[in-house]
Amino acid sequence: MHIVMFGPPGAGKGTQAGLLKDRLNFAYIATGDLFRKHMKEQTELGQLARTYIDRGDLVPDELTIEMLKNEMAKYPDVPGIIFDGFPRTTVQAEALEKMLHDQGDKIDAVLALEVPEDVLISRILNRGKTSGRSDDAERSTVVKRLQKYRELTEPLKDYYRRKNVLNVINGLQDIETVHNDILQALENVVRQ
Ligand code: ADP
Repeated sequence: MHIVMFGPPGAGKGTQAGLLKDRLNFAYIATGDLFRKHMKEQTELGQLARTYIDRGDLVPDELTIEMLKNEMAKYPDVPGIIFDGFPRTTVQAEALEKMLHDQGDKIDAVLALEVPEDVLISRILNRGKTSGRSDDAERSTVVKRLQKYRELTEPLKDYYRRKNVLNVINGLQDIETVHNDILQALENVVRQ
């Protein structure tokens, strides 16, 4: 079973993925975390990615997809994978679909966390006070990331709705309630 955590920056994808993976014993792949690891280790990819991330832009598809492929190869025998922060573009969604298809798998559930933009901005700026993330510090960078989300990522909702795997979750509720809604949505998927 493969799950995509979907939603704008600050929606709570990472928090919810963390709760879910502890329960399910799934592999967890967060492309943002992977990029930050590369930046910290100052790899070639990290240095390149930083130029995009610090501006609030997406890292180009080709680099992101290559990194994801390498990461997925580390988990050949898990019961499932939770993807966080991937896919973020149609090209990425199609690449993921093909990769999974080649191994006889598919995306079983997309969990789309919905939170109003004003709340997202304050959540991210608040996180920025302690996270040390350069892309969380400036309001203008945060606004740009949200704009990129609307432009490039949000259209994927329709893509996954058409494939009948989209589950919309109210991300404005407290962490525990969101988690329970997610478990309920996954139960419905398993029962289908
Ligand atoms: P957030 O969800 O708060 O934006 P992430 O940690 O998921 O945080 O991502 C941080 C940054 O890493 C993004 O703004 C983007 O620049 C880059 N990034 C992460 N995932 C992708 C992706 N799938 N495609 C392109 N860029 C990505």
